[in-house]
Amino acid sequence: MRGEGLDTPVQFMKGIGPTRAEALRRAGVRTVRDLLYYLPRRHEDRSNLKQVWQLQPGERACVKVTVCEPGYLDRRPRVTVVKVPALDDTAYLFLVWFNQPYMLDRFSPGQEVLATGTVRRYRSLIDLQVDDYEFVQEDQAPLQVGRIVPIYPLVEGVSQLLLRKAVDTALASFLEYAEEAVPAEIRERQGLMPLREALQQAHFPTDLSLASKARTTLAFEELLALQLAFRLRSQAARSTGQGIPMAEAEQHMRAFASTLPFRLTGSQEQALTEIARDLQSGSPMNRLLHGEVGSGKTVLAAAAGYACAQAGYGSALMAPTEVLATQHYRVLSELLEPARVAVRLLIGSLPPTEKRRIRGRLRHERPQVVVGTHAVIQEQVTFGRLGLAVIDEQHRFGVAQRAALRAKGANCHVLVMSATPIPRTLMLTAYGDLETSTLRELPAGRKPVETRISTRADAYSFLREQVAAGGQGYVVCPAIEGDENGELTAVLETEERLRRSYLEGVPLAILHGRMSREEQDSIVQNFRSRDLQVLVCTTVIEVGVDVPNARVMIIENAERFGLSQLHQLRGRVGRGEEPSFCFLLPGSRKAESRQRLRVIASTNDGFRIAEEDLRLRGPGEFFGLRQHGFPDLRVADVVKDSDLLVAAREQAGAILARDPQLSRPEHRPLARLVGLYAAAKPVAEGAD
Ligand code: ADP
Ligand code: MG
Repeated sequence: MRGEGLDTPVQFMKGIGPTRAEALRRAGVRTVRDLLYYLPRRHEDRSNLKQVWQLQPGERACVKVTVCEPGYLDRRPRVTVVKVPALDDTAYLFLVWFNQPYMLDRFSPGQEVLATGTVRRYRSLIDLQVDDYEFVQEDQAPLQVGRIVPIYPLVEGVSQLLLRKAVDTALASFLEYAEEAVPAEIRERQGLMPLREALQQAHFPTDLSLASKARTTLAFEELLALQLAFRLRSQAARSTGQGIPMAEAEQHMRAFASTLPFRLTGSQEQALTEIARDLQSGSPMNRLLHGEVGSGKTVLAAAAGYACAQAGYGSALMAPTEVLATQHYRVLSELLEPARVAVRLLIGSLPPTEKRRIRGRLRHERPQVVVGTHAVIQEQVTFGRLGLAVIDEQHRFGVAQRAALRAKGANCHVLVMSATPIPRTLMLTAYGDLETSTLRELPAGRKPVETRISTRADAYSFLREQVAAGGQGYVVCPAIEGDENGELTAVLETEERLRRSYLEGVPLAILHGRMSREEQDSIVQNFRSRDLQVLVCTTVIEVGVDVPNARVMIIENAERFGLSQLHQLRGRVGRGEEPSFCFLLPGSRKAESRQRLRVIASTNDGFRIAEEDLRLRGPGEFFGLRQHGFPDLRVADVVKDSDLLVAAREQAGAILARDPQLSRPEHRPLARLVGLYAAAKPVAEGAD
């Protein structure tokens, strides 16, 4: 057990048996290391002991008193009160507990007690309603009273006392195993503490300012290790794999771009150059291309596919859903077929014979671009001749899958695309192993969508007018069918209601994910051809449906959606000549949800919205998916510690510049720490 140091299971610690170990596991604590890095939410300063005569009713205070008489039970209606008389040199009080009769037996006259709680006056005498207490022991410092005390986040079956005791024990017996990993000069530059001191102070600080400095120290250590793990991983990807050099990729991509009916935006130009360099470099590309809907990512993917085809290699574009894959297929065919690059669609719902035929073609014919869902492509395409894999909607596709793809596809170039602009801090933590290209601007001439927080009456009257003038629109609801308590506006009921009221006589249809693919396709087709004027739908339209004549978007229960998602939905309109409008219908009066909606109404800048979304909901919710390959950070917080993150990124670069493999003796502890991060499950599965 000793040899295992911080990896010792907590179960083997003094005072922690199987039951407590099981409870701690629910808090994510298995080993001593987990425990030491399980930091308090905050601290409470109980270091200031008051004399009893100073106590004021209503205040929270700590006292050191001596029990002077046996305690007794005071039965009042509905409560049992334990009262233990005690005093210090200045006055007399009662230590009081409600409904805990067993407290009675714990006290006897002469005992010295440290107690903290709330002061009350009861029948002209002073009561202290006790939260925590301890007996004064000569050989031991108090744990919960008379000092600054940690307040931990709790889970079922784990009390503050249990955590405080466990951490205290861990600090006493295991601190010596904590290895300093952050090099001293970096520690100094960043104003950090030595590790052991930081662990001690983060839990039981001698001063509140030290607690915060200790936390920063541990957060930095964590972020540094994470950034090193990322950089080592991408270094390894670059050096082990001989990439496929795509000759003259840049010329080919530019030649392709010059056939387009528009000029690339500045950021498209830059991204094109970056992608082309990767393709030519001889190492496999590992790049994220992000920018909001309509910023022109697909066009660049097509250009890259074209360049690979000219160099003799095929490409695959993978999308998370069949609807999206089909949409990409249509767009890429229009872009690439005139340039004589064949595009094929490969999705699960094709008949098996058709799939076989396409796979045969992919193997035997000239280089092509195949478009399909992640699952189908990964399963069915022979990767030998594949030069480029483009992965759309990256946040549904984790690091592990990317690695699996690599393992399978030799060293094809990988370009991942995200239509959710990703704040920089999140990028560095979630996608730290990728190079990045960012499309910040939308093509010129795109009209901003006028957005209002509105009422149903106003929104639907407006929609009716627009429809009468030949326009089309979407109504998005958070649910398909109503739930029991009727909190969510549902597609089916809304359709009914609109048919009978505002949209009487208007050709409309419903669209949601529980309909078959054929049904969905035919409805989208009818909408495109204007046989339908309004779609009442769920967020299935969020991606892929592109109808320029659609100019009104109404979102029911808008507060139910994430900011980035609302922005994405709004991106479904504003694609044509006519001005477009988005109505957000709040289903809740809460000030907080109003405030979120105002963010959307006030800006069309997807990056600003993404930052705000991250700030309001935190990284776990940011993508609207629980699992998206985000590494578990125990200490650091991507929102609050963004400066620290950037610093850690820089320092990681500096360290590897001097010691690329982290093999120098002085970096050995750091390498071990990084190993913990590299080995940790980096990712969850995609959420399809
Ligand atoms: P994304 O994939 O980022 O959503 P697309 O590549 O699908 O964006 O582009 C959206 C629309 O804008 C397409 O119709 C595309 O042809 C057009 N487009 C792309 N780049 C430009 C540009 N530089 N100027 C004008 N239109 C563009
Ligand atoms: Mg697109």
